[in-house]
Amino acid sequence: MTTKPRNQATAPPRKRLFVALMGVTCLLIVGVIYLGWWIPTKGLANIHPALPGYVGFTFAILSGAAIFGTFLLILTTALSRDIFFTRFMRLTVIKFLLPAIELLGRLLGISKDTIRQSFVAMNNSLVVSQKLTVLPDRILILLPHCLQLANCDIKVTGGIEKCARCGRCDISGLAELAEKYCIDISVATGGTLARKIIVEKRPKLVIAVACERDLTSGIKDCYPLPVIGIFNERPNGPCVDTLVDVAKIEQALLSVLPQQR
Ligand code: SF4
Repeated sequence: MTTKPRNQATAPPRKRLFVALMGVTCLLIVGVIYLGWWIPTKGLANIHPALPGYVGFTFAILSGAAIFGTFLLILTTALSRDIFFTRFMRLTVIKFLLPAIELLGRLLGISKDTIRQSFVAMNNSLVVSQKLTVLPDRILILLPHCLQLANCDIKVTGGIEKCARCGRCDISGLAELAEKYCIDISVATGGTLARKIIVEKRPKLVIAVACERDLTSGIKDCYPLPVIGIFNERPNGPCVDTLVDVAKIEQALLSVLPQQR
């Protein structure tokens, strides 16, 4: 299998798309809240003349919370700073906004992978804005098995240190990185094994390499554990001899290791 050059890498993730869709979702939510107040207003007035006012006030607070939350998310990611409730905002994005944005993206004809790239970029931005400091022995780098050259005879799933470092695939550079920073790197053959590794190793932060689908589901499943996602590159098609930019992983590491920022 020939490994093609890196300039065929996947397009860089676009956080702005997620922000834009988040804005539209927020407006739709506010619209639904308004309709939820306006439609039954006449009926409520029959029960008590003051009732539409009270219900309207409640709905105005809900709309204000939706607008304020969206604004705060945009500000947090734009400034890369933990302004307020960043952890709660990650929860909101992962559990509530992502399904709504995926639905909106489908209606607008935006591909799932484009939405997922954007979501992972937004998630990374929120994790980085928390300015976490994590000791090397509490960080786990999780890699997909397809990063290893398909015709390599060494089984790195048992331990990346077994790599002979011939340089024919990116496992070589990653083994060096693990050694340099004393970081635990595991290679998983699938999502189930990846979850099992996380449960066993109990890291405080995960740097995960995978495709758009696996990173999105991994980030969702791991919450509240912070995960920084890095996409693999697939010049030979999915799941075969994939590549990763080792410099991006080192950059993510340096953003969380003590005294490295
Ligand atoms: S770099 Fe390591 S894992 Fe990759 S082909 Fe060489 S020996 Fe095998």
